[in-house]
Amino acid sequence: MSKILIVGGHGAGDPGAVGGGHNERDAMRLLAKEIKALIPSYVDVYDTNLNMFRETDKGKGIYITPYQNIIELHMDASSKTNVRGGHVIIHKNFKPDPLDLRLANAIKERVGWSRKDGFDYRNNLLNLNICAKKGISYRLLELGFISNEQDRARIITEVKETARVIAEAITGQKLDKPAPPKKEETIVTQFLNETGRKAARNMIKKGVEEKLFTSEHENVGKYSDTELISYGFAYIDRKTNNK
Ligand SMILES: [Zn+2]
Repeated sequence: MSKILIVGGHGAGDPGAVGGGHNERDAMRLLAKEIKALIPSYVDVYDTNLNMFRETDKGKGIYITPYQNIIELHMDASSKTNVRGGHVIIHKNFKPDPLDLRLANAIKERVGWSRKDGFDYRNNLLNLNICAKKGISYRLLELGFISNEQDRARIITEVKETARVIAEAITGQKLDKPAPPKKEETIVTQFLNETGRKAARNMIKKGVEEKLFTSEHENVGKYSDTELISYGFAYIDRKTNNK
């Protein structure tokens, strides 16, 4: 499959809808970036300095894109702050394809649907209409209401989780969960350098001489970083407390 182009709505001076100190332009560009980071071989992101709607209106944008598959990202707004939920907009001459259906389910999972069955069939949007004419597969995602606190939390605050759900809808596969945090041991020892190792070995050797450690600790050349740190601290502790 050729790459899908992800377009953040609005831009180039147009912030789109606003709510809760956020705007649609920046929120959708951040989401596009997070999706790209998860599945770089599946998607590209449209120039974030451009407003694709305006570019198409100038005869560029959709008219000159080499991409055959496009997802445009938007959020709704309402004066009623309790209104929430999202949906997928496709051209009214078409039926949802499998990608559209997966994306609608991704929206349902994050913010619920604001339209019956998760779709709105339109023929009065510029990019949508030009794509239909050119035979480009296109859908516009309305990812909840920026005027609604819960939708903002799910889409903007939890942008990484939303990006993961959309990336899984694009690929049709579950992504690997993020790697578990490194063990504490690895974190501690990655900061130990050769100077620190040498100092620890010297302390442990002195500890043996001073009978703070038994003679079995003479073989410090073979100690792991964790052992060097542990016995190094033990030396300081025994020395300080005169054990
Ligand atoms: Zn919009």
